[in-house]
Amino acid sequence: MPPSPVLLEVRDLQVEFHTREGVAKAVNGVTYAVAAGETLAVLGESGSGKSVTAQAIMGILDTPPGRIAGGEVLFRGQDLLKLKEEQRRRIRGAEMAMIFQDALSSLNPVLTVGAQLGEMFEVHRGTGRKQARVRAVELMDRVRIPAAKDRVNDYPHQFSGGMRQRIMIAMALALEPDLIIADEPTTALDVTVQAQVMDLLAELQREFNMGLILITHDLGVVADVADKIAVMYAGRIVETAPVHEIYKRPAHPYTRGLLDSIPRLDQKGHELYAIKGLPPNLLHIPPGCAFNPRCPRARDVCRTEVPPLYEVMDEGGVTEEGGAAGERRSACHFWKETLDG
Ligand code: ADP
Ligand code: MG
Repeated sequence: MPPSPVLLEVRDLQVEFHTREGVAKAVNGVTYAVAAGETLAVLGESGSGKSVTAQAIMGILDTPPGRIAGGEVLFRGQDLLKLKEEQRRRIRGAEMAMIFQDALSSLNPVLTVGAQLGEMFEVHRGTGRKQARVRAVELMDRVRIPAAKDRVNDYPHQFSGGMRQRIMIAMALALEPDLIIADEPTTALDVTVQAQVMDLLAELQREFNMGLILITHDLGVVADVADKIAVMYAGRIVETAPVHEIYKRPAHPYTRGLLDSIPRLDQKGHELYAIKGLPPNLLHIPPGCAFNPRCPRARDVCRTEVPPLYEVMDEGGVTEEGGAAGERRSACHFWKETLDG
């Protein structure tokens, strides 16, 4: 299969927050790309800059206190950061949409779900009210809400958490966008419901051939759905790789730490590994590699030199799964050793 054209390309994105205590560099040179039909999982502990990156892409960053200090967000080759707010608003919803963790605070509590879903068609497509309501029921069917026709006039709080999240997915899909950013879409749900919602999202993504950026702090949920992974730490990408390779042979000690802290059903009773320490205060990011105070491999150079995103290659310049060279990168001075265990 020929590679799909790149849909979204984030280049060297930098976002800072100006606070009373100082300038927090929340996003510090993030680069990643998503093609049509592809799922990129963005992983990292809380506070690593995953959501702020997404907000900058969608054009919903709080400014101030936030400020985009540099970089590009190319959507089909066009830099969104150069567009006027009105142009961005037209792209939002219609061409790229976002799914948030908390459906209850994202949906309007005083409007029925049918009215909210219908509004997407009325506002963006000029569909008449009655027809818009028909489309709303279709969408609810689509995300498998049982007895959609009877529930179209219910309010968000009348649905369970899982069903509400399905309604959020329906809202995002309404105008058939090319790109969806899902920010911790299942984090607030029970484990069994999490899997169902994730499966639904993955299925619809394939069906509509959308690009999907799946933000999560849970490595466990991405194995089945993601094509590639970008791991973030303190506002930087520290590792990118096709999903299978990262599970087999992580090339950054932070990724290895995350993998080792996934609970495994086959290892009940084992003490769960946890990465020691806490992520850095973004007002005072440590010199050198930001992860060095927590890293079991840290040496002198790690405390003084910021590691670039090294290209990770096996012999022959081709990565293990046959992916093109350059797909695997690690911001660790000692990626080779890390790769070998
Ligand atoms: P996560 O990876 O958990 O999604 P975020 O992208 O939400 O992390 O946040 C990254 C960092 O950006 C936070 O730790 C915080 O320091 C800073 N930040 C985010 N939003 C704001 C805000 N509205 N005001 C000030 N700082 C913020
Ligand atoms: Mg977040």
